[in-house]
Amino acid sequence: MHIKEKLTDLHVHLEQYTSAESENVLKRANSVGVRWIVTAGMDLQSSAQAVKIATAHKQVLASVGIHPWVAAETDLRDLTDKIRYLALDNTATVVAISEVGLDFVDNAFTGVSYHNNENLREAQERIFRQQVDLACELALPLIIHCRGAYSTLISILQEERAYRVCGVIHNFDGDKKTADQLLNMGFYLSFGGAITYPTATTLQKIVRHVPLDRILIETDSPYMPLYLQLDEKNEPANVVQIARTLAKVIKVDSEEFIDISYTNFKTLLKIAMRDEN
Ligand SMILES: [Zn+2]
Repeated sequence: MHIKEKLTDLHVHLEQYTSAESENVLKRANSVGVRWIVTAGMDLQSSAQAVKIATAHKQVLASVGIHPWVAAETDLRDLTDKIRYLALDNTATVVAISEVGLDFVDNAFTGVSYHNNENLREAQERIFRQQVDLACELALPLIIHCRGAYSTLISILQEERAYRVCGVIHNFDGDKKTADQLLNMGFYLSFGGAITYPTATTLQKIVRHVPLDRILIETDSPYMPLYLQLDEKNEPANVVQIARTLAKVIKVDSEEFIDISYTNFKTLLKIAMRDEN
């Protein structure tokens, strides 16, 4: 296998493109050598769409789950049950429980304030515990969104014994101590477009601190534009620039870095069997 076919994009929202756009996005990813893309759901509907897209495209895998922003919805237990059946009915494509986690930073898009609202924070914690529980039940890793909530996140992961399945924090933006706590629990850390900004010196230090065998790469497309791409929609083909920047920051050869990140991806998502041909 050529090294260029070893690029992986751990976290994408493909359902956010129109279907015509999405075909082109996947073609461009293919042409730069992206072997695997994991498309994430945020609620029941987008999780079902993620499965549908993964079923139709052989380089796409799906993750299903309830995002913390959805936590304010009623009947959460019912929602988690539906996610369970979606995962169980689609074991060929569903490789992780995501996008799940905690977000205590006030939402600029919806205007919802979490840090002032204990009920919403508690709702997020409740649904996140259910998602960790589900991941353990189904033996699927977690792909976690965490903003402004690392200490609560770590407590919950410990209390719910998440080390049984482990997982990865996507777009990790915590400090060194937080990174160490998560790495000690067996978690991986994933980095995206934020690393391409020359001002990201704190993040560069964190990246250099993480062992090479615990790093994953992602675009979070169509969100999280890379440096100097602020007017464009992000897409998985850009993962090649993210990989090159990370390799430069860590000071390793970029082909070697891509090779290692590919092994990490396959190890975490247990997809060795899918990749033999
Ligand atoms: Zn996301």
